[in-house]
Amino acid sequence: MTLKTSIIVLTLSCVALSSIVHTLLAFNLLDRRWPAGNITMEMQLGASGALIDGSADWDDCAIAGLVQWNANLGGAGVSFTVIRNSTRTPAANDSVNSVFFADDIFGTPFGAQTLAVTQTFIFLEDGIDTTAESDVIFNNAKGFNCYRGPIRLGPTPDGSTPTDLQRVAVHEFGHVLGLDHPDQATPPQVVHAIMNAFIGDIDALQLDDIQGALRLYGVSVVGIPFPPHDQVLTFFLNLENEYRDTLGRSRTNQGFVDAEGSTIWFPEWLRYVLNDCSVTEATTRVLLQIRGQGMQPVCGVVAQGVINFPPPSDALDFLNTLDTFYRNELSRAVELSYIDREGKAVWLQEYLRYRVNGCNDQQATDRVFQQVGGGSIAPVCSGEPPPTAPAPPPADAPPTPFGAGHALVGTNIPAGRYYTDPASGCIWGRLSGFGDTPSDVIAHEFIGNDAGQQIVDMLPTDVAFSTTGDCGTWFDSRGVVNRRAARHPATG
Ligand SMILES: [Zn+2]
Repeated sequence: MTLKTSIIVLTLSCVALSSIVHTLLAFNLLDRRWPAGNITMEMQLGASGALIDGSADWDDCAIAGLVQWNANLGGAGVSFTVIRNSTRTPAANDSVNSVFFADDIFGTPFGAQTLAVTQTFIFLEDGIDTTAESDVIFNNAKGFNCYRGPIRLGPTPDGSTPTDLQRVAVHEFGHVLGLDHPDQATPPQVVHAIMNAFIGDIDALQLDDIQGALRLYGVSVVGIPFPPHDQVLTFFLNLENEYRDTLGRSRTNQGFVDAEGSTIWFPEWLRYVLNDCSVTEATTRVLLQIRGQGMQPVCGVVAQGVINFPPPSDALDFLNTLDTFYRNELSRAVELSYIDREGKAVWLQEYLRYRVNGCNDQQATDRVFQQVGGGSIAPVCSGEPPPTAPAPPPADAPPTPFGAGHALVGTNIPAGRYYTDPASGCIWGRLSGFGDTPSDVIAHEFIGNDAGQQIVDMLPTDVAFSTTGDCGTWFDSRGVVNRRAARHPATG
């Protein structure tokens, strides 16, 4: 071994800003690593005032960040160990990994926005950059506290702007391991990660962070590309509207889990299940996460190809357990929803099934809403050619009869008068857009009896027409409808 280089290479900083983004698997590595074994961190942060989460002192707050990493480094061959309450004087290049507060970075000023810096010394061993020392230095000029949940920015009652030291520590310890900022990679990555340069509401390790560390230390990782949380949440809120506006449901379903909770924890549960955890084990790991124990390791490696989902009854069991947890352990208030819990289990899972099998947000949403409206299950998108807009019919061609789903007016069907012989339960809507909000509905009707005929005029300015399976097939002439009715005397 040659101690060849001894360079300060990294001034890795974080500023307090919110940045919530996507979940592509795309970590950013520094291309250096520790030799196998323990990485001992000498904690010198000292006494604190009372901390929001009850941590005994700053060391305690930061060590919880090391614990998060250790829980996820299985197979990596490295692990953090800790020396608590050290009184050593921090020094650069002393082969000790010091974690401490300071006014500057061994004489170099902090940037105005910088919360903390990790400074690393490397040497070249057998052609590989190997880490010899990493010091983590928190900026004395910044206000810190220790808490989970949204980052607290701006004036606070005590006049400070306390950033959560723990999430900054988790981030800096990622630099210690050898991770860089995915959002500052070339090209920049848009991922949900605590390793992004800007500290925000993410308060614990994310999948991308863990996969980055495992990859860096030679553990092969296979990831299922789960969609970003904001898209799952938007889908869920649109589903509420769909239940209210299209299915005509009332907001009477009680539960203790809000939309945010459902759309964070249900995908987490599925991620564990799809990565080889039993449904019980997956539920246990999600509850550990909610209790603030950080992201738990998965149980195995997922098979390639089409990803198979658990039966809806398992999904419902999980949502029932989650609801009990929210009520008993989190003491949450009752939330009302248009969707019953079975509907949440089935349709959240369907949306995620389409997403992890190659469908984008719009494709998955369209497919699920078609099913919600009584339509059939659509194929997943993996291996399909990219969707192209259907060719408009020739001007003189007869209009095509159409059934359940969305038809684009002017593309799939011409504007004009349409007829159907609906069954009880038929719901149709003329839409000005696909936002699935009331403002996108020009007109709609729920037919609660076995009506003989429905007539709808679609204007050239309509964007789309939505119809459920109970409406039957829509035709552009009364006669065709009557012929259909004649073949179905029970509904005629
Ligand atoms: Zn950083």
